Amino acid sequence: LFAGECEFFFGSQKIDQLPPIGRPEVAFAGRSNVGKSSLINALTGRRALARASSEPGRTKQLNFFNLADRVSLVDMPGYGFAKAAKSVKEDWQDMMFAYLRGRTTLERVILLLDARIELKESDKDVMELLNRAAVVFQIVLTKCDQVRPKALATKIAEVEALALKHAAAYPRIISTSSETGFGIEDLRAEIARFAAP
Ligand code: GDP
Repeated sequence: LFAGECEFFFGSQKIDQLPPIGRPEVAFAGRSNVGKSSLINALTGRRALARASSEPGRTKQLNFFNLADRVSLVDMPGYGFAKAAKSVKEDWQDMMFAYLRGRTTLERVILLLDARIELKESDKDVMELLNRAAVVFQIVLTKCDQVRPKALATKIAEVEALALKHAAAYPRIISTSSETGFGIEDLRAEIARFAAP
């Protein structure tokens, strides 16, 4: 699945401009700077595939990537930068909710959390949003190369406990590093489960 082509095929800035329903979709969400672009690039083995669309100030859009004609990876705009106006945050929430709620081909959301830092209110808000949209989400820790094993174990336990409070949370947490490749195969295997034959 991950050996072949992975190409950008659609960017949508408005909820009424989504690509037609087709392949199963796996979407990636996370705070700005969580390492989402790096992770998508590590998964697909391509540099600069997921463009820096998540930078503050850049146009926020949902970016769709075609992976081997079998699954679409959906890069959701990063959330949580402090400078954003309230209206921007509300627009983000509205658009994400509309996508999450209405997309019948959306199989799972991969929610990225930075292993090095405390969970933020915005992360918890997004878990609530996912829960309300009734979309199964799976938590993936990023930048694990920068955390000592003991601290990582503590982090996993903390995040697991939080996940347990959400009916929509898939219980297994995956630890990754785009830098070292740690956990990337594990995440690929998880995504491959949703790919069309
Ligand atoms: P995005 O805003 O979520 O798309 O985040 P990026 O992928 O652009 O990464 C944000 C920053 O974190 C960059 O400086 C990356 O080099 C760094 N980064 C991303 N993944 C890792 C990782 O696995 N390990 C380490 N040490 N740094 C990472």
